[in-house]
Amino acid sequence: METYEILIIGGGPAAITIVKNLKGKKKTAIIRPEDHSMIYCAMPYAIEGILSLEKTLKKDKLVTDAGATLIRDSVTKVDFESKTVTTEKGNSYGYEKLIISTGANPILPPIEGTNLKNVMTFKTESDLRYIKSIVDNGLKEAVVIGAGAIGIELAQALNKVNVKTYLIDMASTILPNMMDEDMIVSAQKQLAESGVLLYLDNKVSSLKGSNYVEEIILEKGNIKFESEPLVVFAVGMKPNIDIFKNTKLELSKSGIVINNKMETNIPDVYAVGDCTEYKSAITGDVILGKLATNAVPMGRLLAKNLLGENRTYSGFYNGAATKVVDYFVGSTGLSEKAAKDKGYDIVVGKAKFTTTFPIMPFAKDVEIKLIVDKNTKKILGGQVVSGEPVTDKVDQITMAVQFGITIDKLTQFSYSSQPYQSFFPANNLLVHAAEQIVSQL
Ligand SMILES: Cc1cc2nc3c(=O)[nH]c(=O)nc-3n(C[C@H](O)[C@H](O)[C@H](O)COP(=O)(O)OP(=O)(O)OC[C@H]3O[C@@H](n4cnc5c(N)ncnc54)[C@H](O)[C@@H]3O)c2cc1C
Repeated sequence: METYEILIIGGGPAAITIVKNLKGKKKTAIIRPEDHSMIYCAMPYAIEGILSLEKTLKKDKLVTDAGATLIRDSVTKVDFESKTVTTEKGNSYGYEKLIISTGANPILPPIEGTNLKNVMTFKTESDLRYIKSIVDNGLKEAVVIGAGAIGIELAQALNKVNVKTYLIDMASTILPNMMDEDMIVSAQKQLAESGVLLYLDNKVSSLKGSNYVEEIILEKGNIKFESEPLVVFAVGMKPNIDIFKNTKLELSKSGIVINNKMETNIPDVYAVGDCTEYKSAITGDVILGKLATNAVPMGRLLAKNLLGENRTYSGFYNGAATKVVDYFVGSTGLSEKAAKDKGYDIVVGKAKFTTTFPIMPFAKDVEIKLIVDKNTKKILGGQVVSGEPVTDKVDQITMAVQFGITIDKLTQFSYSSQPYQSFFPANNLLVHAAEQIVSQL
């Protein structure tokens, strides 16, 4: 039996980050079943035809060039006493240290009709290939359930390739966990104008049909189809931890329980990424954080520690972004709604300028919103909506939140300016929003 110093279950971004950071300094293997690791974030754009499906497939040499062995198999059992894993193909491997990075699977809710033809979730290469193939074969109608980032991106992609697309969510606005209503309302209007049929503040009760879905029954109303539709649930993820049920590994509903060094309750067993449960760095509460931008830092931290460092993880900020028609939108930390729900006494500030000097012919609007704790003056979160990409601005806000920059300090933020790249030197989004908040304190 082959034994590895470090054996990793899973081949997603968390696992790949670990082997890249270990740089072959430990005898390491990754076990993962699929033909290709995926660039999940790009999958909707392969459906839209912006890039080919092949571009979403990661190359195995990401793992092998980093000096690790890639074993294409699925782990069916871990024996934590003898430090061995058993696989579907009937092989066993030993480990000195085990890292679990089995990710999360999309949720298919327990409602009537999910067994019908073309009812599915959206994560794997085969999901992508299937949707692409039915689109290429003339799919006419589709329904996406869940208006979070994945649902929004998929619905727009389908709409773009001339599929009549419905988008359903029980929240009253799109991207409910990411954006407050005041910041998303214009983008939502444009999404509806682009042709996506929005059914918000509504819930799917069941799917009816004999072979394929002929009708969707909603809490308020129904949708009848004239053709065989595609129905995709994008309603959230659940950790992929079934093989650890009834073992000594401590699990919760949202994942494997770990400490701030990615250690589980079992010595020499670590877990990272979407399969874990972790907390908000802001409130300390356990929150959802199933993002590649959380999985990767968790993996990097663990790899550094396995090489002798002593880093600790502060938790999720959940900086994230997406695109809604012409609007780039993003957020970090707590929304106004989440902060109020948590009981914070908050002050909100906004600023709206242009992405370049407003006299430039291609200037676009950009708006920022900051949410601040009145008592500590600390920034709890922020949102950005713009005609240009927003991740850099979202990350600036995260930096302020993460490193405890108070709102009065932010009024002194030193910025740069140039006609192509910012508003006039006379003002800056963060500074203006900060001044507005300070004037209310
Ligand atoms: C369509 C889509 C778009 C997304 N867009 C974004 C985005 O824009 N930004 C962002 O930050 N995040 C995005 N995400 C989320 C992001 O992809 C995940 O957070 C990230 O992949 C988590 O990484 P991970 O390594 O923890 O798990 P995963 O990537 O889920 O990898 C888990 C791995 O474990 C393997 N595995 C599971 N069980 C076993 C077993 N028993 N034996 C062996 N191997 C096993 C799986 O096959 C897989 O290789 C998106 C996700 C989807 C689906």
